[in-house]
Amino acid sequence: MREHLLQHIRALGDDSLPAYVYDLRDLREHAAAIRAALPERVQCFYAAKANSDPALLVVLRDHLDGFEVASGGELQHVRATCPGTPIAFGGPGKTPAELGLALHTGVDRLHIESEQELHLLSGLLGERTVDVLFRVNLPIALGPVALAMGGRPSPFGLDPVNIDRCLTHIAADRRIRLRGIHVHLASGLDATAHLDLTEQVLTWVSNWADEKGVKVAEVNLGGGMGVDYAHPDRRFDWGTCGSGLQRIMARYPGLTVRIEPGRSVTVYCGWYVTEVLDVKRSHGHAFAVLLGGTHHLRTPATKQHNQPFEIVPSDGWDRPWARPQVRNELVTLVGQLCTPKDVLAGDVHVERLRVGDRIAFALAGAYAWNISHHDFLMHPAPHFHHLDQGPSTPGPTRRRP
Ligand SMILES: *Cc1c(COP(=O)(O)O)cnc(C)c1O
Repeated sequence: MREHLLQHIRALGDDSLPAYVYDLRDLREHAAAIRAALPERVQCFYAAKANSDPALLVVLRDHLDGFEVASGGELQHVRATCPGTPIAFGGPGKTPAELGLALHTGVDRLHIESEQELHLLSGLLGERTVDVLFRVNLPIALGPVALAMGGRPSPFGLDPVNIDRCLTHIAADRRIRLRGIHVHLASGLDATAHLDLTEQVLTWVSNWADEKGVKVAEVNLGGGMGVDYAHPDRRFDWGTCGSGLQRIMARYPGLTVRIEPGRSVTVYCGWYVTEVLDVKRSHGHAFAVLLGGTHHLRTPATKQHNQPFEIVPSDGWDRPWARPQVRNELVTLVGQLCTPKDVLAGDVHVERLRVGDRIAFALAGAYAWNISHHDFLMHPAPHFHHLDQGPSTPGPTRRRP
């Protein structure tokens, strides 16, 4: 943990916990490094569903090429937060109202997931035109990956056998302009696996385009760049990814490639900070009960992993009884919810952990607060801090409704 962040966490009042602390400086540097590692012909759109906190979006607006949204709500939110920034609108099950909103606000790309969507679109277009990509569930061999979204039965995208009917539809409706193909096939890939997937996708797309006589100007490779929760220091290798894309794209002159990572962009800048309320033993196991829990940080429950954390010791203890603690042993970190699933990290080794010590959970900047079941048990919401310069100028603190 960086020194300015540690100082901020130490300086937080007890009544400011639990808190999400977003390190905007870290995000700014990380996003700039991602952009710098990518070739110019690769556009990087941030998938807003990973974390749509407005302060994060504003940082990313200045360093990446646009946003990918997956609902009318995200579309309106991103439009309001970052007016004028290019937006790609994807996702299954778009309603007529959402498609209408996309046309009304003028999205940069619409990712078409089905023939039904094309019919709805034709009914809504009127005098307007729209640039689309077909999202296709390509028949591509994937190794064991964390979350396969394509290459097997899936509600996402078009099956290749249904693309011909979509081509027929747009041949009859010139207002819908096909710019290319979109895929989002897997998540949790490292850079080498991602490049392997890219080779396969681009080969398939160029063979398909030749066979159908379709001009493909753009391919969107989706997101899914891996995040290693067991090793927070091993970030996705954007350098290898960028130079590999450069090499592959040399064979496809004139083609624009887009990527739309979410998790790998914002995950590192977010910390969920809380404190130990109680330490106890049960049938030989040690448990530390923390303020808050998985209703604020659902990620470890969803992904069935131990959320990485750092202990920030707090030395003050003015109670008249012995301070409950564990020393040099395995402990399970749980929250305040009355369910055995409220585990943030199970059987983790600690040198020492005492009631009143603070714990900062790392990698809480993506699919964390925004995927959590906030209202379960009606505990208060966490505070939110946006840290920009250093400890001298902490950002505003506020509670979310
Ligand atoms: C969720 C999603 C992404 C982002 O995935 P990450 O794993 O967060 O990088 C990108 N594109 C589509 C279509 C998605 O559904």
